Amino acid sequence: MSEPVRLVVDAARCDGHGICALRCPELVTLDEWGYAGVDPGTVPDGRVLRRARRAAAACPAQALSFVAVRPAPADLRVIRAGPPPTAGAPRNGPGAVVRVHNQGHAGG
Ligand code: SF4
Repeated sequence: MSEPVRLVVDAARCDGHGICALRCPELVTLDEWGYAGVDPGTVPDGRVLRRARRAAAACPAQALSFVAVRPAPADLRVIRAGPPPTAGAPRNGPGAVVRVHNQGHAGG
């Protein structure tokens, strides 16, 4: 699996057929009326992704889709850090500045 993705359900389209939960119980649960609820996390591995794709393909309402998960602040790397700044502390010098460098975020 190259790019992390999440399975999402369009609640306005979901008709409560329940097929998705049978195809991919790792990510989909049904509420008491049979409408789908999807795990908000990323699809954990290729095996679950294949099952999720089958669930999406089987959905009669075409209510399931995938969204790519963009790299987020986990990519932020502290390049200089010190103790927390205190009132009146210099803006430069040891302990005064914490800068982060965003690696790989395309912006947007
Ligand atoms: S198969 Fe589609 S319509 Fe049925 S519960 Fe799942 S998401 Fe909703």
